[in-house]
Amino acid sequence: MSHSFAGLGLSAELTRAVSEQGYAHPTPVQAQAIPVILSGRDVLAGAQTGTGKTAGFALPLLQRLAAHGSASASPARHPVRALILTPTRELAAQVGESVRTYGRYLPLRSAVIYGGVNINPQVQALQRGVDVLVATPGRLLDHVQQKSVHLGQVQILVLDEADRMLDMGFIRDIRRILALLPAKRQNLLFSATFSEDIRKLADSVLHDPVHVEVARRNADSELVTQRVHPVDQARKRELLAHLVAAGNWQQVLVFCRTKHGANRLAQQLSREGLEADAIHGNRSQPQRVRALKGFKEGLVRVLVATDVASRGLDIEELPHVVNFDLPHVPEDYVHRIGRTGRAGISGEAISLVSTEDQPLLASIEKLLGRRLERHSVPGFEPGKALPASPAAARARSAGERKGAAQRTRDRRTSTAQDRTGRRSQSAKRQDHRQPAPRNHRRGNRKQVAALLGSSTRPTQ
Ligand code: AMP
Repeated sequence: MSHSFAGLGLSAELTRAVSEQGYAHPTPVQAQAIPVILSGRDVLAGAQTGTGKTAGFALPLLQRLAAHGSASASPARHPVRALILTPTRELAAQVGESVRTYGRYLPLRSAVIYGGVNINPQVQALQRGVDVLVATPGRLLDHVQQKSVHLGQVQILVLDEADRMLDMGFIRDIRRILALLPAKRQNLLFSATFSEDIRKLADSVLHDPVHVEVARRNADSELVTQRVHPVDQARKRELLAHLVAAGNWQQVLVFCRTKHGANRLAQQLSREGLEADAIHGNRSQPQRVRALKGFKEGLVRVLVATDVASRGLDIEELPHVVNFDLPHVPEDYVHRIGRTGRAGISGEAISLVSTEDQPLLASIEKLLGRRLERHSVPGFEPGKALPASPAAARARSAGERKGAAQRTRDRRTSTAQDRTGRRSQSAKRQDHRQPAPRNHRRGNRKQVAALLGSSTRPTQ
């Protein structure tokens, strides 16, 4: 296996762009996938965010398109020849950015289209001609419907994070899109997990695929410490604020189950003086971009997210992940904690678990095949809320009244925003999609190992 990008058969334009990114060597998924994709074969790859999978498909895809690219400015000479489908807007934006970066020395045009933003600039970009199109399925079908995109010349199809696209209920949209593509094309399917549904999709889309399977990047050196803090539901926020302050955490990603819960928690933490923001499907795209940018730049200390919104986010060296709510789907726990412990820097994944959460914790432990260590934080033991003094109780109830008034104001504002906000059909469709419950009756160590590599460990 080659230890250089040039050795994998990539052109000077691409190796130059890659070395400008500071990539010294190909990652395992890149070393395996790039030569196979360059040879024109279909690929079925088991790899998640963090493995370098995007460059793994984007680099050879760009090279293949460049071989028959056109320097002409005419839109007719730039039909969509590669289509990359992703489940979320954030992932689409990230993939689009990578395509632009890696393809900067090639005469290829790319565009990213997703819901939740004005469709007109996307229509204009498509009219100018696009060789590589990165899209979420719902908005792509909106464009198909209004005839702003034609897919009859697609030579390469990428289904990125295919498992998540199925979880989010995109299978029918995907089938509709597949029906619009030429039968003869190269297909690349990337997925972190392989359920029966993914295998069925792979069987129907891929022709004699080469299988590429890799552990997570830095799997050998990664360290994720997992810990459970038992706590009363009503005191979770207080405990979170305590942990952030006591540990002097500067960057923590907190998971909530619902958009409303994420919003409320971020607002409450902000009111208490912690720089917090939320990222979920009900926020506008500019709000989501701003929240993520602030978090990456260290302006936002606590980013509260839902599972769907966080999927595919690549945040370098994230030290702390907190499960404020446990996920309903145990596999999501594994995805969540996989956000930390990257790049060889140890990370910590903490779950705040109330009595109501016990059944969810049990299914997670079943999936992991082991019990997670419980550790009560002194002063936050379940059922041990400190009896409040009459003065403190009075202050608290005044605070709660103020909080309730604020919540009513927030609700009014957001309802007013909803009334005035013009949102596309696909944005609405995407926002309402929640991961379908999966069958997770049996513990599946193999699947977890594939998701995380073998080095995650509970605390001693
Ligand atoms: P991905 O799995 O595609 O989301 O990529 C994860 C991260 O790895 C991104 O921040 C990439 O910029 C980075 N990356 C991709 N390939 C390499 C490489 N060969 N060496 C170092 N970093 C890389």
